Amino acid sequence: MTTAQATAVGVATNGPPMLRVNDLHVFFNVRRGPLLRRKTLTLKAVDGVSFDVNEGETFSIVGESGCGKTTTARAVLKVETPTSGSILWQGRSLEDIDEQETRAYRSAVQAVFQDPYSSMNPRLRVGHFITEPLLLNSSIDRRERRERAQAALQQVGLRAEDVDNFPHEFSGGQRQRVAIARAIASSPRLIILDEPVSSLDVSIRAQIMNLLKSLQEVQGFSYLFIAHHLGTVRYMSQMVGVMYLGRMMELSESEELFGNPMHPYTQALFTAALPDHPDIERKDVMLRNDVAAATDIPGGCRLHTRCPFAKPVCSEVEPEWKQVGPNHWTACHLY
Ligand code: SF4
Repeated sequence: MTTAQATAVGVATNGPPMLRVNDLHVFFNVRRGPLLRRKTLTLKAVDGVSFDVNEGETFSIVGESGCGKTTTARAVLKVETPTSGSILWQGRSLEDIDEQETRAYRSAVQAVFQDPYSSMNPRLRVGHFITEPLLLNSSIDRRERRERAQAALQQVGLRAEDVDNFPHEFSGGQRQRVAIARAIASSPRLIILDEPVSSLDVSIRAQIMNLLKSLQEVQGFSYLFIAHHLGTVRYMSQMVGVMYLGRMMELSESEELFGNPMHPYTQALFTAALPDHPDIERKDVMLRNDVAAATDIPGGCRLHTRCPFAKPVCSEVEPEWKQVGPNHWTACHLY
């Protein structure tokens, strides 16, 4: 049993993982309706998510937009505050760490987003952008920061002298390399990749994925990979969690999941996104209706209004986690 699943089903394992997300909930109050009859609703962006990221491993969260995967990543980055649940870094809750430990955490956990250009100041040279996270460490002086930025640029396939260029002087793929250089410049332990190749052309996408993989092999850091493109997830990950409406539906080793998806939601995702293969027998599953609002999540199994296999119990009882294969768990009443 993996530590991630141990967390999900409440079984103790040896030693803490590098990152443990335990029963995370992130809710927001939103105002909806016409002006005079406006109501405050609770939007359950993340509604009980648990997983682990181990040293040197890539854990991917896959799901449609709005399923809560980016909010989960933002909570790990300490940008969103959990409503309940915990996030543990090397066994310590992020709620309990002091200011100095928070600085160390922010240095150890970096992120690469879909659109790096939006976070770059067009009037500042990219050297400034790359070295920003290094300012958290006061023992690194200006000269060393510049040297680190140059080294990081070379590691991502750019030139050391590009440190003095402006963001508009790079192509889209090169800007994503600059964003990766910023992430690796502070020697992180974990990098959160939030749709890092979604906005790139297919050929550039493959180059960036290969770069991310080779950097991980050399430097040994972990990735928390947020994506909706299944082929990319399969290529990158050791473990995959499938999220729907704020909750994890299935959790598995990557190859096991892609060879044998068990949850109807995962099967529907694969039906919609992956091409048929003559050597692989696949069950095509189509969902009914539209996805429910995160302010009005159905009771029981939250997929029951859409699932073609729904039984009476599905609208009444939230399914528990069941082990359905080696390193493979799902939450569905069919099992
Ligand atoms: Fe479908 Fe029921 Fe399984 Fe939910 S628990 S996915 S509704 S069969």
